[in-house]
Amino acid sequence: MLDAIIIGGGHNGLACAFYLARAGLKVRIHEAREIVGGAAVTEEFAPGFRNSTASYTVSLLQPKVIADMALERRGYRVIERQLANFLPLSRAEGDCLRLGGGLAATQTEIARLSQKDAAALPEWYAMLERVAGVLRSLALKIPPNVEGGLAAMIDAARQARGLAKLPLGAQREALAMFTRSARELLDDWFESDAVKAAFGFDAVVGNYASPDTPGSAYVLLHHVFGEVNGKQGSWGHVVGGMGRITQLMAEAAREAGAEIVTGTPVEQVLVERERAVGVRLAGGEEVRARRVIANCGPLPLFERLIPGEHLPADFALAIDRFKAGSGSLRMNVALAGLPRFACLPEDGAHLTAGIIMAPSLDYMGRAYRDAREQGFSQRPVVEMLIPSLVDDSLAPEGKHVASLFCQHCDPELPETREQDAVEAVLETVEHFAPGFRQLVSHQQVHTPRALEAKFGLARGDIFHGRMSLDQLWAARPALGAGNYRMPLKDLWLCGAGTHPGGGVTGAPGHNCARAILRSRKWWRH
Ligand SMILES: Cc1cc2nc3c(=O)[nH]c(=O)nc-3n(C[C@H](O)[C@H](O)[C@H](O)COP(=O)(O)OP(=O)(O)OC[C@H]3O[C@@H](n4cnc5c(N)ncnc54)[C@H](O)[C@@H]3O)c2cc1C
Repeated sequence: MLDAIIIGGGHNGLACAFYLARAGLKVRIHEAREIVGGAAVTEEFAPGFRNSTASYTVSLLQPKVIADMALERRGYRVIERQLANFLPLSRAEGDCLRLGGGLAATQTEIARLSQKDAAALPEWYAMLERVAGVLRSLALKIPPNVEGGLAAMIDAARQARGLAKLPLGAQREALAMFTRSARELLDDWFESDAVKAAFGFDAVVGNYASPDTPGSAYVLLHHVFGEVNGKQGSWGHVVGGMGRITQLMAEAAREAGAEIVTGTPVEQVLVERERAVGVRLAGGEEVRARRVIANCGPLPLFERLIPGEHLPADFALAIDRFKAGSGSLRMNVALAGLPRFACLPEDGAHLTAGIIMAPSLDYMGRAYRDAREQGFSQRPVVEMLIPSLVDDSLAPEGKHVASLFCQHCDPELPETREQDAVEAVLETVEHFAPGFRQLVSHQQVHTPRALEAKFGLARGDIFHGRMSLDQLWAARPALGAGNYRMPLKDLWLCGAGTHPGGGVTGAPGHNCARAILRSRKWWRH
């Protein structure tokens, strides 16, 4: 008899399988696709051109998970960005902003736009670091269960200590970051539109919202609690693409004793006497296990895989009200050469940065309103990365691949209008980098609908569910079920729809395994 079946071999499912197998449990992953990795995969999208299909840059992957799964020994290598971000602001020569390469360099660059903003920069980074430190301290902790009585209250108090220990001023900053809009936050710190855009971009990534939406400042914060090679807040490129992470994780999980079966979508969770007892695979085969762990999001799990009558009514209602849906459209393009930006036409480190085509918060707000009103933005927010500049395993010599990560596209945009949304993306890049379209030899497009069809992401939600205060920590996916244990016996959730949420972190998988191991009785694996 299996001790656990995991539905889905995304990076969290793989991490969870690894920890359980390492503790001696008999674990099997059933993954719907032919490859493991979920949204962290590298695939060939045109002959000779490979790239990360969805998720494309790393920072949040927890150092403990990297160490426990011995990923570095297995070949995990991250190249830090020389420059964090490059923002072409218009087509006029020199009208751009470069962030990164050290505090002094960034200050010099920002001083061209605003002396005041350059002076504010060290304290801004220090503030982000103070608040991100709280998130970091919570990432690998199991949130308390609000129904858990005295033990849960003690646990909650212990976890809140990190926040309570901060000076009052820093607590106020944290409160602002959890509740305010990105614009309100950034207006308090900076005066230059371009500087606000550079920092505000993270607030709309995967968040179908405007920078004016209350709570959008938190999404910004969620993007800075990671690190690359020990450098906090940095982002980098995994050699071989994001799929390299999950291939190595799968190797670690298998080595620990886990079994991984790809191409086996789970159609239903089997429930008997109010317990999850196994799964039925597409094709009809039934597999039984002592517990079922879902790596898919809460919505696909509770809306499709478990008949509603097995859930407590209050929980079914909470799930019914769970918010999910990103306005993200993800493209990969094969390029015959490097793009040239009108504002900075020569080659250079700026091409290795996250290139953000969204020069102001107003631009981002307009992109959101466009999508709400017309289904997609005429001038979308586009981040471009050209990983083949630092990783020659991705494209033939002299050629390149670029990731285009674009917001906003309505998750319900009719298929008949998708091509128009793609055109708007290509035209936006063309505007800043004239001649770009001529370089494109192949393209791969994932609208929110396609992300749902390929990866099972509800309404294309890149985080498995909105990252707002009402859906975080002990309330992710719902209050009373924030400790990975779902309100059906022997059913657990280990994906991004649990604390600490989306991104390639490994944390939900790690924490869920820990919660399961703690819950074990000595007579039952
Ligand atoms: C376009 C895009 C860009 C992103 N960019 C970044 C980025 O640059 N950096 C970053 O850190 N994060 C990024 N993210 C977010 C990050 O990739 C996700 O939050 C993360 O991959 C979630 O991991 P997971 O293991 O919880 O779930 P997933 O990666 O969603 O994996 C779930 C797995 O379950 C499988 N599954 C679902 N239903 C079933 C079923 N019924 N039967 C069997 N298997 C099933 C799926 O096939 C999938 O393999 C991005 C996501 C997207 C979509």
